[in-house]
Amino acid sequence: MNSPLPSQNDDAPAPPASPLGVEEATAGAGRPADVDVLVVGAHPDDVEIACGGTLAKLITQGYRVGIIDLTNGEPTPRCDDPRIREAEAARAAETLGVTFRKILPLTNRRLFDSFETRVALATEFRRYRPRIVIGFGGKTPMASPDHYQAMLITDAAVFYSRLTKWDEHFFGLPVHTIQSQLYFQLGFEPLRSPEYNSQFTVDISEQLETKLASILCYATQFPPEKRGILNRVRGLAISAGAAAGFEAGEVFSTTRPLGCRDLVQTVLCN
Ligand SMILES: [Zn+2]
Repeated sequence: MNSPLPSQNDDAPAPPASPLGVEEATAGAGRPADVDVLVVGAHPDDVEIACGGTLAKLITQGYRVGIIDLTNGEPTPRCDDPRIREAEAARAAETLGVTFRKILPLTNRRLFDSFETRVALATEFRRYRPRIVIGFGGKTPMASPDHYQAMLITDAAVFYSRLTKWDEHFFGLPVHTIQSQLYFQLGFEPLRSPEYNSQFTVDISEQLETKLASILCYATQFPPEKRGILNRVRGLAISAGAAAGFEAGEVFSTTRPLGCRDLVQTVLCN
């Protein structure tokens, strides 16, 4: 799940990040095609644990989905080389079927909300132009503090992405306004009561096993003696789904009240 690359400077501007073996579609002139949903984690495996089922479902529904990991998550106790974790992340992305995944060169264990980290992420928002951004939605006590910093960075980057007369900070990439921002929570934490405007549950009954398979791609993070965490992820998904009438689900919080135009279609989504 995560920790420092001591040689890196947290305040250094992030250089362009490298793709991780998941092919990026492009829309002419080398610019990536826009994505519908972009999900931001602090470490490779955060996104899978939080909302891997939803991402797999979005792909089957025909949406373009990308993952940004702010750090490579290394070092960790059982991983001897960051390239191993990167390869695991690439396999997990392929398991979910997402359109692309990118790991930014920010520093694990020393991830802080700063101008430079905000710009690094906002640059990716301007590059991939998502309609919806999903990221951490609060503190994760007893786990990495990078998660909360990732939330602060994501909140700011959503704003920076749309600011005019500032293109010089973003390699000249044009402004992009994100239409909606959502928060996830890690899929092994107790469900929290709503801290924000509203919550909704995505039915991942058909994607739960894919989600778990994507987490198991991280062999360095979940060796056999730590597989119990998979039971927690499964149990929480079943609990969250049951509360909404599904076999399994993932819960998201909205940053603004969630509206609807057809009460019957929204309420009777089953
Ligand atoms: Zn993490």
